[in-house]
Order: sequence, then C-alpha cells, then structure tokens
Amino acid sequence: LGAQRDRVVTTEEWLQKWEAHNVGFHKEQGHPLLRKYLDVLLNGRSGLRIFFPLCGKAVEMKWLADMGHSVVGVEVSEQALKEFFAEHNLSYCEEPVPEVSGAKRLQSTSGNISLYCCSIYDLSSSIVGKFDGVWDRGALVAVNPRDRQRYVSLMITLMEKNSSYLLVTVSYDPNKHKGPPFYVPESEIKSLFG
Ligand code: SAH
Repeated sequence: LGAQRDRVVTTEEWLQKWEAHNVGFHKEQGHPLLRKYLDVLLNGRSGLRIFFPLCGKAVEMKWLADMGHSVVGVEVSEQALKEFFAEHNLSYCEEPVPEVSGAKRLQSTSGNISLYCCSIYDLSSSIVGKFDGVWDRGALVAVNPRDRQRYVSLMITLMEKNSSYLLVTVSYDPNKHKGPPFYVPESEIKSLFG
C-alpha cells in the first residue's frame, strides 16, 4: 500500500468533488466489465435485489432496473443522486430513513430504484435487507484503506446465501499515485473477504 496506507478522503472532500463536477470516475456509457460479466452476476436468475455501494450516479443502476431487477444504492452526495434521477428523466419521491438521523431515501416512482443518501456505515441489513447481487465498482477502491475491513464485514452481512459479488479494482503502483481509487492487491481482497 506504500504511501496510501494512512491516506483519508473525507466525506466533505467527496461532496466538494460533486459540487465542482470533478467526477472523472463517472462513466456515461456504463462499465464494459458489467456487460462482460452480467451472466456471472445474474447466474440465470431474474427479479434480483442488487446493491450498489457508494453508487454515485452510476448508469448501470438504470440498466439493471430496466431488466426487471430491483436496485438499491447508497451515496453520501445528495447531488449525485438527484443528478442520477434527472439525467434519466425519472421521477422520484423522498422520505426520511427513521433508523438513521439525517438520512433520506430517494425512490423512483416506479419503485424499483431506491437510493439512500447517507454513509454506507449507517446502513445494516435491518434497514436495507439482503441482496442477491452486488456491483462494486469505485466502491471498495474508494473506501479509505483504514476502513476496508469494516466495509467488507458490512457487505458480507448484506449478502444472501447465493449472492454474487462483482468487484472491479485498479492495478497500479501505489507509490506513484495517492488515490482514490486506492490500490487493493488481490492478496488483500482474499484476506478481507475470506
Ligand atoms: N460507484 C460509482 C461512484 C464511484 S466514486 C461509479 O461507479 O461511478 C465513489 C463514490 O462514493 C462517490 O460518489 C462518493 O461521494 C461516495 N462515497 C464516499 N464515501 C462514502 C460513504 N462512506 N458512504 C456512501 N458513499 C460514499
């Protein structure tokens, strides 16, 4: 991990990135690896509950919802979530999340996209339920290195027995770039997820 080990990106910094439209990580056309491995995620199943941790305004949420799945995301930036609904011309309603003070849930009128505006660490399976599939792109690699175990332990509690978890990481020399995305070596993925 080199120089990245103690680096922290604060919530405030993420909110500022969204305000400044400094969101180079956002992929307008969706991620080619989700297309490539969609069958692995779905595994022949339909009508799944799919979780998008640290979702930003990922267009894949709309894509999976249109395929008949039910999508749940979590994101600290309310601006990101509002941009998501606006950019796809989706109407939504907002309601507080009783279990988490200050949190909101933005739900598409059609009902199959439900986005929580709060920190992922405020969620639990009693609030969001469990999932059949997870699309983790720009999520584990955006988590501060010191919070990785906490993040992964939480994700494991949100998974149904037969769920599939697609994880995208970025391979590079962590001494040359400070992140995010942070460098998460394969050996660490194995030890984190067990
Ligand atoms: N997965 C998205 C966004 C990746 S960038 C995509 O593929 O485009 C990481 C996102 O996580 C940012 O939008 C940031 O605002 C959000 N974020 C950072 N820390 C968070 C936390 N603790 N809880 C929820 N969202 C968080």
